[in-house]
Amino acid sequence: MPVASRALALSPLSAAIDLLMPPRCAACKAPVARANRFCPDCFAALPALAAPTCARCGVPLPPQAGGATECLACFRDPPPFDRAAAPFAYEGPARLAVLRLKNGREELARLMAPFMLRTLELAPGALLVPVPLHRLRLFVRGYNQAERLAEELARLACARHLPDALLRVRATPSSRGLSRAQRVANVAGAFRVNPRHAAAIRGRPVVLVDDVLTTGATASACAGALKRAGASAVHVLTWARVAPVFDATYHARPDRVGPDGEG
Ligand SMILES: [Zn+2]
Ligand SMILES: [Zn+2]
Repeated sequence: MPVASRALALSPLSAAIDLLMPPRCAACKAPVARANRFCPDCFAALPALAAPTCARCGVPLPPQAGGATECLACFRDPPPFDRAAAPFAYEGPARLAVLRLKNGREELARLMAPFMLRTLELAPGALLVPVPLHRLRLFVRGYNQAERLAEELARLACARHLPDALLRVRATPSSRGLSRAQRVANVAGAFRVNPRHAAAIRGRPVVLVDDVLTTGATASACAGALKRAGASAVHVLTWARVAPVFDATYHARPDRVGPDGEG
């Protein structure tokens, strides 16, 4: 399915359609001069994640963190991944671009991947592995947006892409509106490493790719499966992450999870 749509996206027919239909901003859909770009206003409004961020999960650290390098959540209960990186908060034009990416504009992966690569230096020999979509979503959408991003990242970084390294062994109900603890339970045991790629993963660093990091529950479940399969390190690279709002006691407010759910 994705093969056919990709062929179309790259074909002369697609170029002809571009000529007839003026290119639109990747976020607000305003006309732009060149395809696969943000308009100047959206580009200027991209919500870059400001330092300092947690060395482990990448969440912006509140002023009360002082000299701490990790957030309290990672300090208390370190996630199975070694580091998560994202260029943007899941807000404004960065959020709109994800919605477009998931709703037919798979070519936006080419715009997004270079921003992502700037936030994470790939270890030599790193394998790029997308978070898999469950089959029903894949059927409805026709492609996995995380796979499109991983494919572009691999192309830019001359790294190996293993699109089916992780398998979703059970469908997970929508995580919309769930707390972090509920999301962790929701995805527990939902992923495993494809036995075909077990040998390739053993002893190698893996970069797990997704569009958005919300609570980290999905990334943790995938990273756990990759670590159990012998990955030497698991870094998580996303286009955006939900940046929590901290209360005065330096606790992320649990109600602040992604409004659009996972997937
Ligand atoms: Zn725009
Ligand atoms: Zn953290």
